Amino acid sequence: MELLFLALSCLHLLKTEVVEGSWCYRSQKCEQPQCQDPPQWHLVNGKCSGNKQSPVNIVTKNVVYEKSLKPLTFEGYDVKGSGQWLLENNGHTVKVTLNTSPKIGGGGLPRKFKAVEFHLHWGVPEKPQNIPGSEHSIDGEKYPMELHVVHIREDASDVTDAKKNPGGLAVLAFFVKANKENENYASLLSELENIKYKGDTARLDPLPLMSLLPPEEDLGKYYRYEGSLTTPDCYEGVIWTIFEKPVELSLRQLSRFAVLHFEKNSSSAMTENFRPAQPLNGRAVLWSGASIALPAAKLLLLPLALTCTLSSLSH
Ligand SMILES: [Zn+2]
Repeated sequence: MELLFLALSCLHLLKTEVVEGSWCYRSQKCEQPQCQDPPQWHLVNGKCSGNKQSPVNIVTKNVVYEKSLKPLTFEGYDVKGSGQWLLENNGHTVKVTLNTSPKIGGGGLPRKFKAVEFHLHWGVPEKPQNIPGSEHSIDGEKYPMELHVVHIREDASDVTDAKKNPGGLAVLAFFVKANKENENYASLLSELENIKYKGDTARLDPLPLMSLLPPEEDLGKYYRYEGSLTTPDCYEGVIWTIFEKPVELSLRQLSRFAVLHFEKNSSSAMTENFRPAQPLNGRAVLWSGASIALPAAKLLLLPLALTCTLSSLSH
């Protein structure tokens, strides 16, 4: 009975123009039965059936503590650039192309990487469905949303160039949790209205990238593994860093993504734009442990404090 109902509602949504061969998420199958959903992505690009794919479910009892995974260094992440950011509904997500190139290094990365864009993956934040839409999960537990900040190796000119070698990309992943309102996301969220349909673009005054992330002192705990892009072409050779501390947005803020649509003249909202977890195939997930990111100023004060304590003891 339920199946019949689903089939009928699909028929109702069926459009005459059918997109063939293009990749889509499972939630789009109803409106575009011909599109290739995640289990079929290998037909779009063979790399999608590789053995180092992303996302993955992180089983915390199996992670390998790696003490060399110190906190990452963030360069230019606290700077508000001059050029505007380009916001785009690309038919799969909302993508923000950066105008400057903040850099990351350290944290066990083999080299420096520069940020080129960020985008999000989400489910259905509202009740009654309430489908969590993060791509990675921890012990099977998913968050409402996941933010990906995509970086390319410092010496690469763009993503295509970076993909020429393995290890060309590094993605920082942040879970997004429903909690209190986050003012730093206000300008970004208010632009979503202007990019409702595929191909729509908008400009946004740049923000310091760090303002969209959890506080830097909370970024010492993270998971690291080698994976792939989570959309076709599923390029393998991505160094993944998944931070334990989530970004916080209010439920109302999460719900604002509901204005987005997958297609131009489509009734279906852009929801559940995540790829399901892929097998680890023997890959290790490393864990940075409880290393604490001490701001430079505090590190400088530490010997001073010690000297003072020692000298007060000797008097
Ligand atoms: Zn992504």
